[in-house]
Amino acid sequence: MSEIKRIPQVSLMEVDVAIVGAGPSGLIAADILSDLGIKVDIFEKMTSPGRKLLIAGKGGLNITHSEPLDKFISRYGTKASLLAPFLQKFGPNEVTSWAKKHEVDTFIGTSGRIFPTGMKAATLLFNIKSSLNRKGVMFHYQHHWQGFSPKGKGLVFHSPDGEITVNSKACLFALGGASWGFTGSTGDWVDAFSKAGILVTPFKPANCGFGVRFSEHIKNKFDGTPLKTVSIEVTDNTGRVYKKQGEFILTKNGIEGSLIYALSATIRDSFLSGEQATIYLDLLPDSSIDQVEAKLSQPRKKQSLSTYLQKTTGIAGAKAALLYEFTPKASLSTPALLAHSLKHLPIPISSIEPLDRAISTAGGVKFEQLDNDLMIKKMPAVFVAGEMLDWEAPTGGYLLTACLSTGVAAAEGIAKYLR
Ligand SMILES: Cc1cc2nc3c(=O)[nH]c(=O)nc-3n(C[C@H](O)[C@H](O)[C@H](O)COP(=O)(O)OP(=O)(O)OC[C@H]3O[C@@H](n4cnc5c(N)ncnc54)[C@H](O)[C@@H]3O)c2cc1C
Repeated sequence: MSEIKRIPQVSLMEVDVAIVGAGPSGLIAADILSDLGIKVDIFEKMTSPGRKLLIAGKGGLNITHSEPLDKFISRYGTKASLLAPFLQKFGPNEVTSWAKKHEVDTFIGTSGRIFPTGMKAATLLFNIKSSLNRKGVMFHYQHHWQGFSPKGKGLVFHSPDGEITVNSKACLFALGGASWGFTGSTGDWVDAFSKAGILVTPFKPANCGFGVRFSEHIKNKFDGTPLKTVSIEVTDNTGRVYKKQGEFILTKNGIEGSLIYALSATIRDSFLSGEQATIYLDLLPDSSIDQVEAKLSQPRKKQSLSTYLQKTTGIAGAKAALLYEFTPKASLSTPALLAHSLKHLPIPISSIEPLDRAISTAGGVKFEQLDNDLMIKKMPAVFVAGEMLDWEAPTGGYLLTACLSTGVAAAEGIAKYLR
């Protein structure tokens, strides 16, 4: 019997609006466009939508923040002025109203962060998807975008049925950053964008942990231990000093957690500049150095250093282990030097957590190529939104808010373009 050769099928599809990527920014854009009666087809390489959103919900989905809008916008650092027009139109209030529209109530946590009442992402994602289905939005899963067709702006996908070219009246790329790749956000779109002449700032880890060369003692005894209410000081490459109070976690390999993420852009850039990056830990942020020194001036008598430290300053456990690890032995017996170490303990950074493990990524499509509606100027009808744009922000709800806000702006831009 002669063998039948399987010829890969190359087919063509015509749609009105193609959205590539079914994360939060793609989904909200589909929501806005379908509300306007515009027909939308979503193409997603995974077998289901919003995988990173679901992961984000695991530790409590922090969808936005309740602080005043100008302070909120300042969290985007050097990209604040670029994102401001989008966040002013669709900011924290609009994010919570949008969640409510999808039958998810929110509450403000003690830190001012805003969460859905169930803390998780699953209900929100399920309700959005059901609403999109009801409005006739078509989901095409396992459609992996490869690039633009040789002639024109056709979108070429690998799909279970072979290669397919999709022609659309307008399209939105919402392909995410390049971390937690198993959720689909691998940044595999960068080559195709670069080939099309679209400038992309290389990705860097953001909201990431850092490596510290700990002794076996710390590795074995304190892996996973939280350090509560400490403060960290770091200096950026221009000499500007940043100090923040909060908590972080010791791991076998280094340090991670909210306080580290909040300072991670500065620590990362200082590390990447080639200088020795060092963070300075204040183990007693509520006492001045004079107060700490006064406490340590009490006679030690026959007490061991650890008992004395615990009795006079309350320092014990992981905090004491860090103090011993990074303080020269000679300084431990002099109150003034010990007080200085407790308030200004240098911890040298040895590495940055790999890109794939970062909560988010810095870098992406450069803004100067986009118009005010997030359309690529030299490719009319092609829009971009979400984490794949070149901005970064700390955790605190700022990531999702900017993804949703730019998704809305791009959707409104598409609607305007089609009109
Ligand atoms: C552990 C963790 C916790 C987080 N917690 C929070 C939080 O509490 N609050 C917060 O604000 N943010 C949080 N984030 C960040 C937030 O989840 C992301 O910023 C957000 O999901 C980005 O949305 P997006 O739509 O731009 O991209 P993504 O959510 O990354 O979605 C992009 C989609 O595009 C698809 N795709 C990619 N390439 C292709 C291709 N070539 N072809 C077809 N499809 C493609 C992907 O499969 C994916 O579905 C967290 C992230 C992580 C990893």
